[in-house]
Amino acid sequence: NLSLKLDRAFKTLKGTGKITEINVASTVKEIRRALIDADVNYKVAKEVTDKIKDEAMGRDVLISVSPGQLLVKITQEELTKLMGGSKVDIKLSGDPSVILISGLQGSGKTTFTGKLGSFLKRQGRQVLLVACDIYRPAAIDQLKVLGEQIGVEVYAEPENKNALQIANNAIAYAKKTGKKTVVVDTAGRLAVDEQMMKEIEELKKALNPSETLFVVDSMTGQDAVNTAKTFDERLDFDGVVLTKLDGDTRGGAAISIRHVVNKPIKFISTGEKMENLDVFHPDRMAQRILGMGDVISLVERAQQSFDEDEAKRINAKIRQNNFNFDDFLSQLEQVKKMGNIKDLIGMIPGMGKAMKGLDIDDDSFKPIEAIIRSMTPKERQNPDIIDGRRRKRIADGSGRTITEVNNLMKQFDDMRKLMKQMNKMGGAKQALGRMV
Ligand code: GDP
Ligand code: MG
Repeated sequence: NLSLKLDRAFKTLKGTGKITEINVASTVKEIRRALIDADVNYKVAKEVTDKIKDEAMGRDVLISVSPGQLLVKITQEELTKLMGGSKVDIKLSGDPSVILISGLQGSGKTTFTGKLGSFLKRQGRQVLLVACDIYRPAAIDQLKVLGEQIGVEVYAEPENKNALQIANNAIAYAKKTGKKTVVVDTAGRLAVDEQMMKEIEELKKALNPSETLFVVDSMTGQDAVNTAKTFDERLDFDGVVLTKLDGDTRGGAAISIRHVVNKPIKFISTGEKMENLDVFHPDRMAQRILGMGDVISLVERAQQSFDEDEAKRINAKIRQNNFNFDDFLSQLEQVKKMGNIKDLIGMIPGMGKAMKGLDIDDDSFKPIEAIIRSMTPKERQNPDIIDGRRRKRIADGSGRTITEVNNLMKQFDDMRKLMKQMNKMGGAKQALGRMV
């Protein structure tokens, strides 16, 4: 029964109107665990959550949003900042402009080279892909197959064992054939070694690329961070490409890497197909890491449509034990303005649990609205005058049964009693204002 459920919900509500030390502590702990689960390194996770705690303390909570949800929102904002705030495009300059791809073997360099070729082609550029992996003949074929698939030319010299020569020849070829953008795929090793570093260093010096990208497998967790650090010390690369973000990986590596090398992540790769490439957006990655995209958008929706003045007015009326049917109706309107009722019920602190299993949609409010609208203004403002005769008239006027009218009166009565009680206890007066 509804009033019992409300009662329970109100009890959960007590003290949740403002973020306090206690509810911050428990939520922050959960957020920290979520970050660590998502592969963010412990130190970074702790730094982030400490900052979130400072940020959150004492912030007023919109009455329709629980502190927990607001904390999630603040966390998302902090994570976004931590990953650079906004997206950073790759730099393309020079004739041709050269993009150098670096990274360990198996990180996804060749696959990404194909994807980037397709990406640039879609921007209307004339692109040339260059196969500079001189150690694995199969790597040349791999790139050629990808090139054919996306309709982009691939330059290769299968007999030549000098990567620098191949790259220089490729650039000359690009100039001759009018290709303005050259993407150079390189060889990697399974682990960092001196020879590989020297090779890629020399390539960078000789080609003077406008963009050097470091490709890293996001599933390798902490190793990814260490590799990124080593490559950056030697190469001073311009950006990171995170691969294999499909499947279970939640992307915590993005935060750790950014934190350690302080270079923007520019692309994420989410599968083996050529179209599985996305420009990196810090805010979207933050959502992904938190795994709470839905919650966040709900919080935002509430913030948009929430009418604060009206809430203040209603709160004042509740405090004066003066809540009437006009206020009730106004609350219904507020809730309806916010969109899907079922989603929104869950956002009201404590309500999600209490209303579970209850079948509520926009139409559920129609009979209630009809009954209230059949009351005279005087009746709405002074519900106590609504006696048996008036109830009969209201029922006839609204096309509802007397029982329905009685039920609503009873519910409304219970609600007001509860409000009075809460006022006496000095509890969550604010939050009560949002209850319907
Ligand atoms: P390279 O050695 O750095 O050139 O790496 P490759 O491009 O050859 O990729 C190594 C393996 O990872 C291949 O089997 C690719 O199909 C696969 N791969 C590359 N990128 C992704 C990705 O984003 N998601 C998944 N699931 N597999 C990928
Ligand atoms: Mg390769």
